[in-house]
Amino acid sequence: MDSLLELHPHDWPQRFVALGGKPFHGRIAARWVFRRAARSWQEMTDLPEALRERLEQEQALGAATLEELSRAEDGAVKVLLGLHDGATVEAVGMPGTQGRTICLSTQVGCPVKCQFCASGLDGLQRNLTRGEILEQALWLRREQGEIGRVVIMGMGEAGHNLDEVLPALDVLMDEEGMGLSARRITLSTVGPKGALERIAAWGRSVSLALSVHAAQDELRHELVPGVRKRRLEDTLDEADRLFAANGREYTVEYVLLEGVNDQPQQAEALARRLRGRRCHVNLIPFNPVSELNFRRPALGVQEEFRKRLREAGLSVTLRRSLGRETDAACGQLRRRSMPSSGSSVTEV
Ligand code: SF4
Repeated sequence: MDSLLELHPHDWPQRFVALGGKPFHGRIAARWVFRRAARSWQEMTDLPEALRERLEQEQALGAATLEELSRAEDGAVKVLLGLHDGATVEAVGMPGTQGRTICLSTQVGCPVKCQFCASGLDGLQRNLTRGEILEQALWLRREQGEIGRVVIMGMGEAGHNLDEVLPALDVLMDEEGMGLSARRITLSTVGPKGALERIAAWGRSVSLALSVHAAQDELRHELVPGVRKRRLEDTLDEADRLFAANGREYTVEYVLLEGVNDQPQQAEALARRLRGRRCHVNLIPFNPVSELNFRRPALGVQEEFRKRLREAGLSVTLRRSLGRETDAACGQLRRRSMPSSGSSVTEV
């Protein structure tokens, strides 16, 4: 039975007619699902009982089951969802100044294989469908209430799955979906070939978070093997063109790794790369992962890196870490629950 979430809510009325209901029943159901966090057809008491019975038999509302739920003292919530083929995917919700921020995954595993990321360790298993991406948001909505912001920064590289990611975001922004403003959505990517142009052509003013992690191509290619065929300069130029198209300044994401990319001369190299570009730098101290040998730099080193960028005139934040108690470094919860397997890197 296919999940109804694979269809845009605009198409639900037609589906409900096929199931013996009226078009407005589809609109009622969409409101229950996206605005009232319903988990089952039986909750939708303003739908006729006979229709609810038929839906129960013939139309799945979602396709995922909740395998694990963890809550940290700092308020972060993490869900691990089981999918129809036995794959698992995770999503995280965090408290913030503008309401809850949820972080969604776009693939099972990831082909980019960043050396400091647990999701990259086993490579790509498969792309998630639009319904599977939306279902993460719905489970978090059910577990923690209203959503203030959505960040596409969980497991997977969104730029390799735009056919599913962009329609899922369309539903999150649609009035008949979750009704979120584009300004409350951030899409993170390493900038695979063609991805930023496609996001520009899509025309929605979501924010871009560009994963950079090193100013020099040689080190970036080592840390982010999936971009070995791309020059950072070209990727930044594409991000500038996206800014010209949608008017949104982008964020440069930079994971700080002790002794690898946290030195003063590396801050200065990054400042030179970004000079004159309409971006903001987000420094993310590495979140330790047991299988990886990287370490988080000392606080003084983090502060020094930030200071050098600021002195060069850049806008910079140093991120505080949420969800460490819930294994919130990307990929960790899922990885704990699955056997490892070998796979290759996708180059972009
Ligand atoms: S950091 Fe992101 S792009 Fe890199 S391996 Fe992890 S999930 Fe993939």
